[in-house]
Amino acid sequence: MTQKTARLPRTTFLPFSPPDITNEEINEVIETLRSGWITTGPRVKEFQEQFAEAVGAEAAVAMSSCTAALHTSLVIHGVQEGDEVITTPLTFCSTVNVIEHVGARPVLVDVEQHTLNIDPEKVEAAITPRTKAVIVVHYAGHPVDLKAFKRISEKYGIPIIEDAAHAFGSKYEGVPIGQSQNLTAFSFYATKNLTTGEGGMLTGPKELVDCARRLALHGMNRDAWKRYDQAGSWYYEVEEPGFKYNMTDIQAAIGLVQLRRFEKMQARRREIVEMYQKAFANHDDVICPTKSDHVEHSWHLYVVRFNLERLNRSREAIIEGLKDLNIGTSVHFIPVHLHPYYSKKYAWRERDFPVAYENFRRMVSLPLSSRMSDSDAEDVIEALRTVIQA
Ligand SMILES: *Cc1c(COP(=O)(O)O)cnc(C)c1O
Repeated sequence: MTQKTARLPRTTFLPFSPPDITNEEINEVIETLRSGWITTGPRVKEFQEQFAEAVGAEAAVAMSSCTAALHTSLVIHGVQEGDEVITTPLTFCSTVNVIEHVGARPVLVDVEQHTLNIDPEKVEAAITPRTKAVIVVHYAGHPVDLKAFKRISEKYGIPIIEDAAHAFGSKYEGVPIGQSQNLTAFSFYATKNLTTGEGGMLTGPKELVDCARRLALHGMNRDAWKRYDQAGSWYYEVEEPGFKYNMTDIQAAIGLVQLRRFEKMQARRREIVEMYQKAFANHDDVICPTKSDHVEHSWHLYVVRFNLERLNRSREAIIEGLKDLNIGTSVHFIPVHLHPYYSKKYAWRERDFPVAYENFRRMVSLPLSSRMSDSDAEDVIEALRTVIQA
């Protein structure tokens, strides 16, 4: 049983990461529904252009998800059966599922302790003649060491694909994530910093992004979506068997408004993070996230790690204690190698990737969203203090 305090338990449950949707998004969706054009159309085009401008990318294509964007990236780079793709164990399953989808073999490489990002030195050590790509994940929004990966990419002639599901709003040495020459995949899933409900965006060099644009709509040649428009034509040609990975104008309507509100939402996120950092900076049992000086952090996640040995309790007990006080949390992520499909297929064991595993055991993601009030954040701080002191 968790001890009760003056402010706790909260009267209402604080969800881990609710979407920040206002009347502006709602009205834009209604207008789209009334416009007569509800699938890929003018709003998607506008969203792509504005997003590309926001990150300074040469080109961008809106897609149905980040997973779709990652899958398409592997196809564009010609990754196939017999190939190897290096990635991190500390990611959402879709980063690795897409490697399976193209028939290649995922090669996991452990993360580094500070940022929990994939370790470039270990990546270099894992390269073989079969390595056809590396997928890096900007974990929680902290950019990976892009300079080191650029060097690896040039030295071995291997493309780097960036899983930037957490990293819209992040910068590396002053440059927004999404501006590199790598194909970069963003997610607009409901919990992400910018949401369209479901959705994603692929940015990169124009030639590769145009290829993705075609693959995302059955492999039909360009602007095929215009075929029902007055200015369009019924005629199209299929140049290769593509996918159905396009975004709808209904989603883009939400995205356009979220893009306008983004800086404000990020500012609020940073204020909540400040409160957490202040509260736990000098705590013996809670290890706060830190960031390197040369990056800007999007703060998609606020992941704390516990000194379980000193606390003499499990991470599960802490999560349950917080839940008793009406505080929602999550864990990012169950390392890929622990999922039954992967552990069976590749005979991976818990400690094959010890840094990912040891950190997974002691991590919790605290509630973080631009919808949180100061009072919500204070509840989280007091609840966590109460639970770990109990
Ligand atoms: C959310 C997420 C994805 C998947 O994004 P979708 O848009 O839901 O496909 C991929 N990678 C990471 C690291 C994620 O957090």
